[in-house]
Amino acid sequence: MTLFISTRGNNDKLNFEDVMLRGLAPDGGLYVPETWPILSQDEWRNLVGKPYTEVALAVISPFVGNCIPKAELKDMIEAAYASFSHKAVTPLTQLDANQWLLELYHGPTIAFKDVAMQLIAKLMDRALTKRGLRSTIVCATSGDTGGAAVEAFMTCDRIDLFVLHPDEKVSQVQRKQMTTSGSANVFNIAIKGNFDDCQNQVKAMFNNENFRDQVALSGVNSINWARIMAQVVYYVISSLALGGPDKTCDFTVPTGNFGDIFAAYVAKKMGLPMGKLIVATNENDILQRALKTGKYDMHKVIATTSPSMDIQISSNFERLLFEASGRDSDQVNHMMASLKQSDQFEIPAKTLANINQSFAAGRADENAVSATMKSALSDSAKLIDPHTAVALSVAQNHLTDNPMVILSTAHPAKFPDAVKAATDIHPPLPAHLSDLFERTEKYDILDNEADKIMQYIKTNSRVVN
Ligand SMILES: *Cc1c(COP(=O)(O)O)cnc(C)c1O
Repeated sequence: MTLFISTRGNNDKLNFEDVMLRGLAPDGGLYVPETWPILSQDEWRNLVGKPYTEVALAVISPFVGNCIPKAELKDMIEAAYASFSHKAVTPLTQLDANQWLLELYHGPTIAFKDVAMQLIAKLMDRALTKRGLRSTIVCATSGDTGGAAVEAFMTCDRIDLFVLHPDEKVSQVQRKQMTTSGSANVFNIAIKGNFDDCQNQVKAMFNNENFRDQVALSGVNSINWARIMAQVVYYVISSLALGGPDKTCDFTVPTGNFGDIFAAYVAKKMGLPMGKLIVATNENDILQRALKTGKYDMHKVIATTSPSMDIQISSNFERLLFEASGRDSDQVNHMMASLKQSDQFEIPAKTLANINQSFAAGRADENAVSATMKSALSDSAKLIDPHTAVALSVAQNHLTDNPMVILSTAHPAKFPDAVKAATDIHPPLPAHLSDLFERTEKYDILDNEADKIMQYIKTNSRVVN
């Protein structure tokens, strides 16, 4: 049975369900398993060619432990992925002799956030029902998490969902997906600020014990362990499809909050042989600079055509720092205190060297993104979105003899303006979203002020203790 600890060193050890309901640890840290469950090479081999849901059950069960009976977990996984429009859930498509796209956008909101969100909604609803509780979920979004959360939680009666997005900094499709559910338990707040402001507001709410208890606060941002866990599955599936565990492949991941690529690292920690993990950033290249120089140094957020990666505070990076430092929470605390105080920290040399053993990094500027969307169409007959293009562009500088898997995190129709500008093709929305622009929107615009936002949530949440 896996228990979980905080990256910041407080001594609580919690089970999966508690960790999922809490989101962030009370000391401000992120939860990680106390020890990594490891599958043997034979156990991996036995999963080759198995359906997504079966692989998911094998990967997820060791973390969930006895919180959920296995048969019930299996049903929940099957229900979560029945909402995907592709039978393979996350199909691989071939781009050229040795490069592959891992298509993660076949869920209801056509971005990869659905993969984790569809499952976590089911897991949370079950945990709350079992405990006879209700909960208020507050989530910050740079665009895609919000829509995925709305879609996943709009039918959960025990949960009120508040989504904070940066006003006028998400695409129209993204905003409409969040604001048109018509569900009584869903509230959208456009914050006058950027994504980091939204994320900071949510973190401050978690650190406010009073408020946290008043509204029974929960979080489903990628800091929530349950989301990372759900994302490990597609790394396993694609690796096994390309010859694993007897061969390895490299992965290039378009990265913002470091949740998706950290899931790749988890697969490795679980004993699956993995090649290089390549962090691909857009012009908000803090991670790329940090891995090269050892200095994590915040700049201003730049608005790009890949808004879901327009981030300077990459929360899940803390999980990697914890691992790469040899689980030294003092070192992590030191770095996080420095970040809070002076917007920067130094990664100690040994920790950095450990990181660079598993990871590499690159950045793609806006010209490269646009050129890559164009060349993917002409060379591989593939229309890709700008986030995918960031990864595909960066991957070209990291090719080896290993198969290269490029994570395709959004459907091109989610970012039609950038795709049209680069390729002259306007990607149509899939049928289930074709009336999106006729649906009625509902959201409120608030200043980036903690008191006003918390008051809004208290007024509208049905949970008030
Ligand atoms: C969220 C998102 C990313 C970045 O994922 P992280 O887990 O934050 O690194 C990349 N692409 C798209 C389309 C996204 O929605």
